Amino acid sequence: MTSTNLMHSPGHIDPLTVPRPNVVDGVTPREDGRIDLIGLPRQRIAELFAQAGLDAKGAKLRAKQVFHWLYQRGVTDFEAMSDIAKTMRPWLAERFVVGRPEVVEAQHSSDGTRKWLLRTADGHDFEMVFIPDADRGTLCVSSQVGCTLNCRFCHTGTMRLVRNLTPGEIVGQVMLARDALGEWPKGSMAGFCDDLDDDDLEEGSYSADGRLLTNIVMMGMGEPLYNFDNVRDALKLVMDGDGLALSRRRITLSTSGVVPLMARAGDEIGVNLAVSLHAVTKEVRDEIVPINRKYGIEELLEACAAYPKASNARRITFEYVMLKDKNDSDEDARELVRLIKKYKLFAKVNLIPFNPWPGAPYECSDDKRIRRFSEIIFEAGISAPVRTPRGRDIDAACGQLKTSAEKKSRAELERLWAEKQDALND
Ligand code: SAH
Ligand code: SF4
Repeated sequence: MTSTNLMHSPGHIDPLTVPRPNVVDGVTPREDGRIDLIGLPRQRIAELFAQAGLDAKGAKLRAKQVFHWLYQRGVTDFEAMSDIAKTMRPWLAERFVVGRPEVVEAQHSSDGTRKWLLRTADGHDFEMVFIPDADRGTLCVSSQVGCTLNCRFCHTGTMRLVRNLTPGEIVGQVMLARDALGEWPKGSMAGFCDDLDDDDLEEGSYSADGRLLTNIVMMGMGEPLYNFDNVRDALKLVMDGDGLALSRRRITLSTSGVVPLMARAGDEIGVNLAVSLHAVTKEVRDEIVPINRKYGIEELLEACAAYPKASNARRITFEYVMLKDKNDSDEDARELVRLIKKYKLFAKVNLIPFNPWPGAPYECSDDKRIRRFSEIIFEAGISAPVRTPRGRDIDAACGQLKTSAEKKSRAELERLWAEKQDALND
């Protein structure tokens, strides 16, 4: 059964989804009839205020004020919006809410990485990870619950796509992280301090304005380009100077290679691009990143060459997971260099040691092999750092995210993979 509620994009393939809630003009209905403002553009908020009875000028002004409280101050309670008339605040609270994804569980790794298990209002679980480093703090954001694709080394790939996350659920992850890290200007945390403890304050300041959360990567659960509109709308709020005001240079979108949407991603979103390449031959990429059967390596690299705004200062990142005896030979490294040069790409390579998960059909290449692979690329003048795995002890590392508690048998995994392959071949 294919749901008509799901966004259809070229190559949207999974027939196994459940409908997302019946979103109308960006608004997800709530049981209490109120409207959650998170994730809506300012213009849409003004329209809703006008529909609720304010005159056009009042609606526009209130929308501007509320938007500021939402995204610049992190306020979730209309009572705290001090420049809005006292009588107006209950009027707003009767009709609207400022939501956050529900936190089901928060885990802290011994290396400082934090993982949150979150739940949508209709009961679907997904994950978000925060990775503190010496000079930055990166939030790894999910775009879907599950994934239509089935890269064979990825734990999320063993889930079906449950549904796309809404813009509110995507930007809501960033809001929640700022709540948890205590990053809103002082005085705005009223009613939202539950997840804040002393540990949160230990890590020091990274950015000029003292913020810990400095970067965002769309590298959590799901394929962001198969939820294009919602990811774009959420990132617009993140980048909006009156919104969360994070520079697009600090945001990276990672795709497994949804070629037809890459140009649009450049034009309409304009963030840094990361591409999950992972193999340099058709045979191996077809096996480990099966979307390759639909959009092959050559096509993918052409789309990278055409990606708007690529330059030496803003290079495309090729992610390359190191799988023992699968994609990690000297020959593979040399072929990778050849391809990058052939397509004249401004690129760097990020080597990711494979993070294991129960039942995974691969092993990680050994350290010596990874170092050699990296050297070959470096020697050709292309940066190829090895990504340090983070948060492995809490299953927060790349490709370890998966929310349903059940463990699938090998036979079940094979069946699911076969189903997804069939869908991909359609
Ligand atoms: N769906 C998008 C973004 C999410 S995955 C994509 O595929 O690009 C983020 C990165 O982690 C991708 O490069 C992905 O291939 C990689 N990854 C997935 N499983 C992994 C694993 N078990 N070990 C290491 N990296 C993995
Ligand atoms: Fe989906 Fe990305 Fe995992 Fe592939 S690596 S299954 S595209 S989340």
